[in-house]
Amino acid sequence: MDDLYREVIIDHYKNPSHRGTLDPHDISFADNNPLCGDHIQIDLRVDKNEIVTEATFDGHGCAISQASADLLVESIIGKSLEEVRKLNKQYILELLGIDLGPVRLKCALLSLKVLKAGVYGLGEASDDLVE
Ligand code: ZN
Repeated sequence: MDDLYREVIIDHYKNPSHRGTLDPHDISFADNNPLCGDHIQIDLRVDKNEIVTEATFDGHGCAISQASADLLVESIIGKSLEEVRKLNKQYILELLGIDLGPVRLKCALLSLKVLKAGVYGLGEASDDLVE
């Protein structure tokens, strides 16, 4: 892993700027990555035009999963729900700026899976959401 990107990830892990929950919220979803023990909850508030006005994450797990969630929620404030539905694996990889093996990829993609399951109003998250 490149040292510069490693620093960005560790910084977002140790000092996340969007950790917390929103009460009330318009959208909330949570899921786990059992392979690593990561848990992520994402809460959103959206306005009448379906633009994300506030976004937070809460949870625990490895640095990649938590940093990915912090970067993701930060990046979607101001986006429409339609834009959020189109986010894919590549988007997360660009936010993190590193190449990941298959195990770490699951950690990185958990936040996107949770976000999209929430935005689509699904009962449970599926890997199809983050292809
Ligand atoms: Zn993990």
